[in-house]
Amino acid sequence: MDYAIHKACKREIIWVMTENGKKTMLDREPEKMWVFTLSGTWKMVDCYRSHFATCPQDKHLSGEKG
Ligand SMILES: [Zn+2]
Repeated sequence: MDYAIHKACKREIIWVMTENGKKTMLDREPEKMWVFTLSGTWKMVDCYRSHFATCPQDKHLSGEKG
């Protein structure tokens, strides 16, 4: 996987291409999440979160002011 360091916060991120053909950053370490499957059981999956949501240095990107 193609990963890098986000300069703003020095955390490891992954660059991925979205459906729209845009590049976006994800946290390199996925979160474990439980999902309910069609077969009626629970399963643990890796969930990659957008780094824009978790980056401590990029809060302004979420549209919040001051
Ligand atoms: Zn960051």
